[in-house]
Amino acid sequence: MPTMSSKTYPPSSEFSSGAHVDAGRYEEMYAASLADPEGFWAEQAKRIDWIKPFTRVKDVDFSFGNVSIKWFEDGTLNVSANCIDRHLATRGDQTAIIFEPDDPNEPAQHITYKELHAQVCKMANVLKALGVGKGDRVVLYLPMIPEAAYAMLACTRIGAIHSIVFAGFSPDALGARVNGCDAKLVITADHAPRGGRITKLKDNVNQALLNDFDEVKCLVVKRTGDPIAWRNELDFWWHEEAEKVSDDCPPEEMGAEDPLFILYTSGSTGQPKGVVHTTGGYLTYAAMTHEITFDYHDGDIYWCTADVGWVTGHSYIVYGPLANGATTLMFEGVPTYPDASRFWQVCEKHKVNQFYTAPTALRALMGQGNSFVEACDLSSLKVLGTVGEPINPEAWNWYNEVVGQGRCPIVDTWWQTETGGHLMTPLPGAHALKPGAAMKPFFGVKPVVLEPASGEIIEGNGVEGVLCIADSWPGQMRTVWGDHERFMKTYFADYKGYYFTGDGCRRDEDGDYWITGRVDDVINVSGHRMGTAEVESALVAHSKVSEAAVVGYPHAIKGQGIYCYVTLMAGEEPSDELRQELRTWVRQEIGPIASPDLIQWAPGLPKTRSGKIMRRILRKIAENDYATLGDTSTLADPSVVDDLIENRMNKA
Ligand code: ATP
Ligand code: MG
Repeated sequence: MPTMSSKTYPPSSEFSSGAHVDAGRYEEMYAASLADPEGFWAEQAKRIDWIKPFTRVKDVDFSFGNVSIKWFEDGTLNVSANCIDRHLATRGDQTAIIFEPDDPNEPAQHITYKELHAQVCKMANVLKALGVGKGDRVVLYLPMIPEAAYAMLACTRIGAIHSIVFAGFSPDALGARVNGCDAKLVITADHAPRGGRITKLKDNVNQALLNDFDEVKCLVVKRTGDPIAWRNELDFWWHEEAEKVSDDCPPEEMGAEDPLFILYTSGSTGQPKGVVHTTGGYLTYAAMTHEITFDYHDGDIYWCTADVGWVTGHSYIVYGPLANGATTLMFEGVPTYPDASRFWQVCEKHKVNQFYTAPTALRALMGQGNSFVEACDLSSLKVLGTVGEPINPEAWNWYNEVVGQGRCPIVDTWWQTETGGHLMTPLPGAHALKPGAAMKPFFGVKPVVLEPASGEIIEGNGVEGVLCIADSWPGQMRTVWGDHERFMKTYFADYKGYYFTGDGCRRDEDGDYWITGRVDDVINVSGHRMGTAEVESALVAHSKVSEAAVVGYPHAIKGQGIYCYVTLMAGEEPSDELRQELRTWVRQEIGPIASPDLIQWAPGLPKTRSGKIMRRILRKIAENDYATLGDTSTLADPSVVDDLIENRMNKA
């Protein structure tokens, strides 16, 4: 397949020899993790400090109707004590969090583990004073500021369950999530500066809490100090309440299976689901994957550009890194403010060693040209990572050559909100990378490829099908908040006895895994099944195309036709000649069967706030059935949809 480059990139022997896991060690540990999961995970759980040690490792039932997942069930621990207190003796003065504000002229902050301890204890005591206790739900609606981490850890310190709502969401989306978990308290900020613009967070909270939620209190962090509307007796300033409480708060003893947080999925495929993660297994898995996937070593500076509103921010900005005693960078801004060199300037300024971002950000930056990268000293970088969607080889190569200067392994981490941590990824010191491949399962993860219709296992290499996981891992979600039935129906009903990921994959001739996209995104053209991601990759590889999204639509002759939404590079003009040129191009890249039927010029694509294209909306428009688009509340910019409907190509 032409879009699947055959070139591989083995780690240098220098990198491998210093890495936590090299090729031999991977094989050995992976085999051990499948041969004796209980022994393997009992050993790995020693990364965490337990108050009362567990005696039972794993108690799992994947059978539909009885699904139940428990790890380390009778052990007790506290997450904030693991992320803070246990580091104080050895690294109390080390920086735990580097805060880089939206405005590059505002000074960065370095928060030590000692300072983190004091702030988290204070916030925990404030939460208690506001009536929040063990098991209560707290919604966080915050910018990417250190107080977001304090609030998460303060909740875990007293055993409250947090549910973070991305600060870009509307009052309606926020209200639905406050209501969905019966939150007692919302923690927000007055305003959120981002990309030079201001979001009025507290005003949004006021709107969300109007009428229905009169009793919900609100703790407000002062970020900009600009005026806001205040609800007397229900609203509290964080800085004022902090003065009234002690900076010591003993951590609550929590059961391993007590809920740690609720987090809604992105909503790319349907109504967002309130994913529930619990305490002991999640923390073990987040800590282990953070250390091994990124080959994190003591003293490294680690930066994940995600927002804490996504699971990536939970596991790989806060919980994983802090459990490992790392220095983790929190960035308040966006990649293109003040200009497209911001990411690289921050890497240079803080001497970042591991850098983890999303393909959508890379594609946007790649479109701006190399000069923004080349102006910065990126010699500190050691490992690069991506997450969120399949990375097209074009963007992979740019990341490798221009950002990593051919020197930094790229870990393409495939996982989900539901999985708590990485399920498949190359390990930087172990695997010869293939651009666009998720490569290998993480320890303890047992992928199976199934025939979509029959659910039969497909053995061997050089095969493609639906990706399921045969057994549990500690970071797995336990239920959908308040709806265990939906949990079972979504993940355990279609393929009995397995966790169904919703994604398709290919296991290539070498036994390496490629995520081909969502199963929903597979189309059947004249009897040929193909992943829409492949056509998208081909389109994006054309020099005039900046982004593309491909969906199927009913076609009288072929069954399904190929409908492409194409965004052109700045300065390129749409024309019928260009349409023809793109058709010819895709035919050459993939083959005549993949030739686009309809190409619509799209000035913008409908994306979730985390940058994923919402194909279910594009499918509806392509099917000329745009009256019922479903939940669009998680879209970053709902207005792009109007243009797409207006200019749709399949007007019946
Ligand atoms: P919803 O489940 O509500 O539709 P979502 O699936 O977009 O939303 P997330 O949990 O944020 O919510 O995303 C997980 C999905 O993202 C995976 O199932 C997969 O489709 C895609 N994905 C994530 N990382 C990768 C990767 N490295 N390669 C390929 N696909 C990826
Ligand atoms: Mg999903």
